[in-house]
Amino acid sequence: MSRNTPPKNLKRVSVINLGCPKNRIDAEIILAELAQAGFPITGDATDAQAVIVNTCAFLEEAIEESAQVIETQQERRRRGEIETLLVTGCLPQREPRELVGRFPWVDAFLGLDQIPEIPGLLKENNHPGQVLVSATPSWNPGREYPRLLSTPSHYAYLRLTEGCSNCCSYCTIPMIRGPLRLRRTEDILEEAGDLVTLGIKELILIAQDTAAHPELSKILEGLERIEGLRWIRLLYAHPAHLEEKIIEQMAASDKVLNYVDMPIQHLADSVLERMNRNVGADRTERLVKKARSLDPQFSIRTTVIVGFPAETEEEFEVLLEGLKRLRFTHLGIFVYSQEEGTQACEMPDQVSWEVKKERAERLVEFAERMQAEETNRMTGNKHEAVVDFAKEASEDCVTCVGRLWSSAPEIDRVVEIEGPGVNQGCFGKVEITGGRNDRIFARWIESI
Ligand code: SF4
Repeated sequence: MSRNTPPKNLKRVSVINLGCPKNRIDAEIILAELAQAGFPITGDATDAQAVIVNTCAFLEEAIEESAQVIETQQERRRRGEIETLLVTGCLPQREPRELVGRFPWVDAFLGLDQIPEIPGLLKENNHPGQVLVSATPSWNPGREYPRLLSTPSHYAYLRLTEGCSNCCSYCTIPMIRGPLRLRRTEDILEEAGDLVTLGIKELILIAQDTAAHPELSKILEGLERIEGLRWIRLLYAHPAHLEEKIIEQMAASDKVLNYVDMPIQHLADSVLERMNRNVGADRTERLVKKARSLDPQFSIRTTVIVGFPAETEEEFEVLLEGLKRLRFTHLGIFVYSQEEGTQACEMPDQVSWEVKKERAERLVEFAERMQAEETNRMTGNKHEAVVDFAKEASEDCVTCVGRLWSSAPEIDRVVEIEGPGVNQGCFGKVEITGGRNDRIFARWIESI
């Protein structure tokens, strides 16, 4: 047993969070609930008496990653190094029945709706193997659920909706997170106000599909009026729902960045149809051209899937040629994963692993070439940036890691900044001095 027992015999708890920023918000809510209930919290699971693994499960690969973490903690539970092990998040929601047999030492598997029950469960005596999961979750936490923020002190995620009703044929998320649930605009704006009061300067708007919120324009307007907020960033906007007027609103705004993450998945209409994306390539092209007509530097991130069932070489070429034409600023590449329970899983003409891999490699090669050209084009230019982490190098020179306005945290290229002592959360002007694939180099000019 670790040395100093927490007050009131409440176990010292650690939350291990996996997956996307939406899962991170759930973990922050769990942490806040535990703190409110008086549980001591530690960021170091090896120093905890109770561990909560908040899992991701949208792809087989993510399930394997979650399983490895659970197995490690389960071994500690079996050896008595920890008293309680809870598993929450998307894995219990996706595979509630299989888990007990696979992980016999887990005390409880909890679905999204059961998050509020965690403090109570931790106070109870354990009896492994509980499965507490609602088949279709209604979880849609608003401002009534405080968060213990886990991001650096100057940026935070803000969720606009929960769940998704788009039902893309390859995607497991609707069956995990349930159908689309909207948050009230007032509630979103009030939470944003709370976060800015805590010192947050950059808000990153997230959902499964942020453009599915019918009041997105009103939300952006409301956020724009919040004093003290500097950057507003939009992620996960489905091209079928993102309106040109939103792009106009972004381009006209001082605080809403000319940055959008717009997952397109493909550019061949025949594949988009089989994916049930409800959007054609022409609309995507119109949106990109609109953005670039308003700001040639408009930063557009996207993700694509290669090797979707029956994808032909011709369809892949359409995708590649389209990407060359549209020059997305950041490109995420996924190899199609045949996920049980999805429509696409049953489709004929599944593409072989060799072909998928070869196509993904051609896209990676293209993306790296595009990135190198982008670095050359940016070198010598001045841009706004923020410091995410400051590293001590010497008395008068500090190397910081941060981001240009055109990069989102955790997913886009970082910038390594040389310059006088600037701290985490500092916004400033930098001059680009070069770069390589995963990072850009710059020198600090001035704070702003
Ligand atoms: S938009 Fe499509 S890919 Fe995205 S979460 Fe919804 S169903 Fe999945």
